[in-house]
Amino acid sequence: MLYNIKVFGIVQGVGFRPFIDRLANTFHLNGSVANRGSYVEIFVQGGEGTVKAFVNAIKNESPPRAIIIDITIDIITTAKTFADFRIIDSERESGNIFVSPDIAICDKCRAELFDKNNRRYLHPFINCTDCGPRLTIMQKMPYDRERTSMSAFPMCDDCREEYYNPTSRRYDAQPVCCNACGPEVYILDGEECGGEAITKVRKIIKNGGIAAIKGIGGFHLACDATNIEAVQRLRERKYRPQKPFAVMINFLKVCPSTHIVNGHQKPIVLLPKDAVCKVAENVAPNNHKLGVMLPYTPLHLLIFDYPDNVADFPEVLVMTSGNISGTPLATNDEEARRDLSTIADVILTHNRDILIRSDDTVMDIVDGKPYMIRRSRGYAPLPIHFSAAKSISVLAVGGELKNTFCLSKGDLFYMSPYIGDLTDLRTVEALKSSVKRMIDLLEINPDVIACDLHPRYHSTQIAEELAAEMGIHVLKVQHHYAHILSCMAENDFSDPVIGVAFDGTGYGTDGTVWGGEFMIVDAQGFRRVDSITPFIQAGGDKSSVEGWRNAVSMIFDIVGDVEETKKIAARLNLADERKYGGHLYMIQNNFNCVTSTSAGRLFDAVSAILGICSHATFEGEAAMKLQYYAECGISSTELRANFSTKEIFASLLERRLHGEDVHRLAFDFHSALAGYIVDTCQKIRERQKISTVALSGGVFQNTLLLTLTLDRLKAAGFEILHHKKIPPNDGGIALGQGLAVHFS
Ligand code: ZN
Ligand code: ZN
Ligand code: FE
Repeated sequence: MLYNIKVFGIVQGVGFRPFIDRLANTFHLNGSVANRGSYVEIFVQGGEGTVKAFVNAIKNESPPRAIIIDITIDIITTAKTFADFRIIDSERESGNIFVSPDIAICDKCRAELFDKNNRRYLHPFINCTDCGPRLTIMQKMPYDRERTSMSAFPMCDDCREEYYNPTSRRYDAQPVCCNACGPEVYILDGEECGGEAITKVRKIIKNGGIAAIKGIGGFHLACDATNIEAVQRLRERKYRPQKPFAVMINFLKVCPSTHIVNGHQKPIVLLPKDAVCKVAENVAPNNHKLGVMLPYTPLHLLIFDYPDNVADFPEVLVMTSGNISGTPLATNDEEARRDLSTIADVILTHNRDILIRSDDTVMDIVDGKPYMIRRSRGYAPLPIHFSAAKSISVLAVGGELKNTFCLSKGDLFYMSPYIGDLTDLRTVEALKSSVKRMIDLLEINPDVIACDLHPRYHSTQIAEELAAEMGIHVLKVQHHYAHILSCMAENDFSDPVIGVAFDGTGYGTDGTVWGGEFMIVDAQGFRRVDSITPFIQAGGDKSSVEGWRNAVSMIFDIVGDVEETKKIAARLNLADERKYGGHLYMIQNNFNCVTSTSAGRLFDAVSAILGICSHATFEGEAAMKLQYYAECGISSTELRANFSTKEIFASLLERRLHGEDVHRLAFDFHSALAGYIVDTCQKIRERQKISTVALSGGVFQNTLLLTLTLDRLKAAGFEILHHKKIPPNDGGIALGQGLAVHFS
């Protein structure tokens, strides 16, 4: 009997065909295996039992980096017979495309890198079938060397031998190369290349300097994380006074979540600060956590351990995105020269092109499990599967901040790597070009484009431009509805839910600012059923960084008197008197004012009245510090029930004015807010008979609020959907926008 077996998933560039070849030999099956671009096609001749066992072995023993999404088996009636088993060259057929994410260097390659007798000794680009760049060097499918940026480096005879030898661990590894034929590192606008360049960078870092280093998805900026002056210099040059930096550590020290930090994706993982390593206190000020990652390219390993005469090289480096804050990561020499030469003392680059930009992925840990904050390198563009999808293709362009976009075809939703904040025009350009590249790569022709409802988002404009170009429609999706849908999508859940979207800001269907919303989401769309107490957000964009503004609005709302509000603002030292005078004037005259239910701004206001942060230097700073204070001061007070966020704020204000400890107040705020969320969900459950709650929105990046809310929802008998694989913040809304098309 001849069987035709198709294996769908990440089966290209992961050693899948040689694996099938070996397996077929073990089972004494004749036939063939071929790469069809979107799947691997196998023909085998044999008895039913043997073929069944063969298919089971495919499922259970597949190579470590392969991801099997589906296997189909058909019986072919033919007289044709096979005399042996063979691997057939790539052919192109259309279908769902599975592009592998980039993979961190494997243990075997790491060992070879430092083995003097290996011909790839100290080669900064060593890789194999199990590791190395994928998405970032890919031009087109199927994944073959001539369609990657390695096409510029013809293989030497030795590499070619390994590449074509099915028993070699570099068989069919597209980026395979060596010291003789591979790319090269060099100092940008300098003399040194190869080992000399690496030594130069090591010297500069060791002496407190800053280096820009080209990696897999873009440049990093690196300095000694134990050197307070070096870190300070980096902060000043990057105009990033407070926002925590991630670090890369040479050795895996005591670490509670080894498997996440040390897995083949090697994301940045937020770990308890002192558990891992000692760093200068200005690396992550006012934070219990530290973003930690391990070296994931051979070049990183060489930077730490190059055998030269640079002694006592630091074991921990700050490794932050190589960009001007808010702009896209630099990916080539020209961008590095333009953006990084005023920040870095030296730029270490190389001549392998980065075709798709990809920032480091960032994960927090909740309940011992990963909780995605930024999904990019190592994860994008792995698809999310949603069973109840229609057979349409959608491009969803995402939101304005932390932008990512999503291309979907039927039930598979491919999220892009992280693009960034579209407030900068360079990021807008990056979004446009990435969309085009991913459309080419995944071969998806969208039937419709989804975007946010906000009329002034750049992403909305891009959606309209692209829709006009392609002659297709735009569907505008309310921001918080998209958040809830993104949560349902990643949980593959399509029944009605109570959606709790606690977020920064999003454009509401009534033109006001939303962000603390309770909504019913079902097949008909969404209904907003409740929200936090509305307040006046005055002062335009400033009100999202100057938390004292929202605090003054809320105080005025409680006391109802301008003079009294001024007195309280003065006692709490919220801002300079002229400033809050002006702010109150705006409120009284309804000038530059908008009604808001943003939970993010409520956090900012509370952070301000507690004297923790009244003026943020980056989005989310006030809330991050508030959580830090709360975690320093877990309280045991029995809290009375609060029926509105206005009551919660009023009670905190009163206790603050009585001089209560701010750590305790910070904790009680989180606790009261979790209580309020659960109370509100209970009321909705009584009326609507829906007992599943979906939690989404950037505010749930706050793991203290999330854990308190999860615990109480569980105790109240709710089914809960929350994020794990997709960020709760705006980095996830493209997925929800894409899903909205299936719900309309
Ligand atoms: Zn390897
Ligand atoms: Zn070679
Ligand atoms: Fe949002």
